[in-house]
Amino acid sequence: MTFKALVATRENEALSTKVTDFDDADLMPGDVTVSVDYSTVNYKDAGALSGRIDVIKQFPLIPGIDLAGTVEASSYPGIAVGDKVVANSWGLSQTHHGGYAQKARLSGEWLVKVPKPFSTKDAMAIGTAGYTAMLCVLALEHGGITPDRGDIIVTGANGGVGSIAIALLSDLGYRVVASTGRLEEADYLRELGAAEVIDRHTLSEPGKPVASERWAGAVDSVGSHTLANVLAQTRYRGVVTACGLAQGLDLPATVLPFILRNVTLAGIDSVNAPQEVRMKAWSRLARDLDLSKLARTTTVVGLADVPDIARRVLEGKIQGRTVVDVN
Ligand code: NDP
Repeated sequence: MTFKALVATRENEALSTKVTDFDDADLMPGDVTVSVDYSTVNYKDAGALSGRIDVIKQFPLIPGIDLAGTVEASSYPGIAVGDKVVANSWGLSQTHHGGYAQKARLSGEWLVKVPKPFSTKDAMAIGTAGYTAMLCVLALEHGGITPDRGDIIVTGANGGVGSIAIALLSDLGYRVVASTGRLEEADYLRELGAAEVIDRHTLSEPGKPVASERWAGAVDSVGSHTLANVLAQTRYRGVVTACGLAQGLDLPATVLPFILRNVTLAGIDSVNAPQEVRMKAWSRLARDLDLSKLARTTTVVGLADVPDIARRVLEGKIQGRTVVDVN
């Protein structure tokens, strides 16, 4: 039995990918086999496929950190044939075959059942980016940031994390300020729920260690000077969630926002988040994410389109979320 898969290989340090017929017998061990409906292209996938981020630890490997589909066989307690399931990260696309294939065999521990009202396509429109956006929302709530505390800034607003964070926060009653390098997309950001759109260049250059207090909270997927400036502008007892590095992985900041303004910098990791955290994030997504807004963020492509999409993600040319229909 073979199925279609996008396989990454490496020769003389050069990484290449090809859609090929993959043999079922070459899948890795796992107690659940999933007939994959959809995958997606996250920033991390784009980094992995370009070789720019050292994600894929062994070759040949099927990349794709996310997948959603229907269980074909299972010996894992609580996961049954016919269940709709989603997997985000864990070892996928690192040491284990990932989502860019029509079939996956993996550990049942990595799976979450797709909550109602989502379809497997919705689950991939959300993907790691959307689930991470919800982890940021949960961290803001955990830090006591309620809508009455003031504005929330979302950086990298046109990206996957940014778009879904805007949709979630605005529907939860927060006033959201979207920071973007694509001001021409302001209408899209307003449709998702942004009350105000600002130019990311006001944040991306070196700034003061502390500046006028503007933000009650932040969802930052950009890092570097942007994160340093967001910290410097955060109000007394505010919470800044840091999940990304689209501008850079440096953090050229001082301790002043922490010791003068009691600002909290909350780290967000989706890859190794414990199962109960994932379940909570997915159930809150099911409750709080507006499906019509999700549809507005989503474009669907095929398996063969993945390398081109990945290149455009790294060029900052993709908006919102890209779902991959592997069939
Ligand atoms: P996307 O590529 O979809 O979005 C990134 C956005 O960042 C772009 O759309 C752009 O928004 C902005 N951006 C791009 N380049 C720059 C730059 N040089 N300076 C400032 N802003 C820039 O990525 P995702 O939303 O999938 O992921 C965002 C980040 O979060 C990535 O760094 C990713 O690795 C990280 N991430 C981390 C996770 C975790 O577990 N911690 C999980 C998921 C993602 P605009 O055009 O609006 O300015």
